[in-house]
Amino acid sequence: MSLRGGLDLGGTKIQAIVFDTGDERVLGQARRPTPQEGGPAAVTGALVEALQEATQGAGLVPERLAGVGVGSPGETDSAQGTVAHASNLPDWDAPFALAAALSERFGAPVSIGNDVDVATQAEFQLGAGRSASSLLGVFWGTGVGGGLVFEGQPWSGRGAAGEIGHMVIKRDGARCPCGRRGCMEAYAGRRAMEERARLLTDRGRKTELFRIMRERGRSNLSSGVWARALSRGDELASEVVERAVGALGAGIASAVNLLDIELVVIGGGLGVRFGEPMAERIFAAMRPHLFFDDRPPVVRVAALGDLGGAIGAALLSERLSPAPAPA
Ligand SMILES: [Zn+2]
Repeated sequence: MSLRGGLDLGGTKIQAIVFDTGDERVLGQARRPTPQEGGPAAVTGALVEALQEATQGAGLVPERLAGVGVGSPGETDSAQGTVAHASNLPDWDAPFALAAALSERFGAPVSIGNDVDVATQAEFQLGAGRSASSLLGVFWGTGVGGGLVFEGQPWSGRGAAGEIGHMVIKRDGARCPCGRRGCMEAYAGRRAMEERARLLTDRGRKTELFRIMRERGRSNLSSGVWARALSRGDELASEVVERAVGALGAGIASAVNLLDIELVVIGGGLGVRFGEPMAERIFAAMRPHLFFDDRPPVVRVAALGDLGGAIGAALLSERLSPAPAPA
């Protein structure tokens, strides 16, 4: 039995778990909103609280953990234990030594990895990709992130591989949040989808989206809001989602044409919320673009759901800081 802490650090929420890597069980979990101000110090404080609550839930103290992993946005450096340029986190541009700050508080070694990479690795080891040797993880949420496993090994290139959201699906197309044009994310990212919905509303189209958003006390169109609007047959919502699915189909199929991976795992807030029926629609949208269309890859929804990132972080901790052999 090896008890590991896993922290999934997102722009809006922090998910903490205590994970037994021996029998692959989540023993405790806690969730916290990500501080929107206060810089790395405030975020570090929230990470500490979240993991403390999760360990309490498991009837433990953090010092009992063999290690803690963090899946973080921004530029992560596993060797240095730092995170830099995390644009979704408050005042977090310069490299911050997150691993050192956390390990001092936890009394356990802390490993840092890229959020999408660790979530992909979790699906590969314990989720939808268990029987696969190569897979592409597509995390469909605020943006669209990607992670790769080739022949059983994570592939990160020179550190920046997997940016599938910025595959160009239309030259001189829609403006992407990254500032470029025609990226897949400019059509499929939740932020871009919301912009599209607002634009169409401004042009006089009717939709329930923003009313559902207000009813739920939200300030933006969350995955749940989109799902609710679709279930009510909202035409504008269907149209924007259809546009996103078309973009995902083109971008993912292009990646498959290049890499010939055997499995595509669809995760992220929207991917998990929409589930299997949407994965089937993405598959259908890929088909016309597949060069070898007689043996397409399998497309599945992430099996670990919302906890995949935190489980991946716990697994990262095991990979990077193996427990000392018993004396
Ligand atoms: Zn882009």
